Amino acid sequence: MSDFPGVLRVGDLEVAVSVSERRKSVRLTVERDASITAVVPSQVSRTELTKVVEAKRSWLYGKVAEKRDLGEAPPDKEFVSGEGFLYLGRSYRLRVVDSGDVRLIRGRLELARGGGAKELVDWYRRVGAPWLTRRVQPWVTRIGVEPSGLRVRPLGYRWGSCSRDGQVNIHWATMQLPPTLIDYVLVHELAHLHRADHGAEFWRIVERALPGHEDYRERLRRTGHDLWLPEEGR
Ligand SMILES: [Zn+2]
Repeated sequence: MSDFPGVLRVGDLEVAVSVSERRKSVRLTVERDASITAVVPSQVSRTELTKVVEAKRSWLYGKVAEKRDLGEAPPDKEFVSGEGFLYLGRSYRLRVVDSGDVRLIRGRLELARGGGAKELVDWYRRVGAPWLTRRVQPWVTRIGVEPSGLRVRPLGYRWGSCSRDGQVNIHWATMQLPPTLIDYVLVHELAHLHRADHGAEFWRIVERALPGHEDYRERLRRTGHDLWLPEEGR
C-alpha cells in the first residue's frame, strides 16, 4: 500500500507526491516555479521514495536553482542609503553621498547620488580583479596549470568560463559570495584547463584540490539565486 499522495520532505527539499497506477518507476520533475513533484507507482513506500530523492539530490538542487534563476529574481535595488549589498559574503549598507567613485569605507558602501547598477557593477569588477588575481595563485600552484590571464566580467548565469588559450573568466557577481565559495568557482575553472568536460577525471581533479567539493557545489547552487544580478551586469 502506498502512503501517498501527500508531501514528502527530504532535508530542505519538499516534494509533492501523486500516485499513478500506470507508472512502473518514480518520476521526479522540477516545475517552472521551482517546486518539485513526484509521480510514483502505487506500491512505493515513503522510505523508498526518500531514497530515490536523496540519490537525485544534487540534480534536483541544480534544477531548482536553474528555474529560480529564470523565474523570479531577488527584488530590485533602489540605490538608497541603508540598502544592503553583499561583498565577500557579508552585507554592507549603502551610503548615498554627493560625489565620488563607489568605495567601501568604514563598513559602508558609498555611492554618488544618481548612481546605480552600472556604477556598482563596475565597482565589483574593479575590486574583483586584484582580489581574484591574488586569491587564485595558490590554486594555480596546487592544480598545476598556467592560466594566461584572469578577467572579471558579466557571464550571464555562469559563474565562470575559460577559453582554449587558458584565459579564465569569472563573473563579477561571484564577488558577493563568501571567499570559500569563490574558491570553488576558481578551482572549477582551473580544473577545466586540464579537462574541458565534466567527466570523472575532471571531478577527480576538483576533489583533489578541494576535498569535499560537492558540499561547496551544493552551497553555491543554493546561494546563487539570492545574489544581485541586475540586467546591466548580465
Ligand atoms: Zn564546468
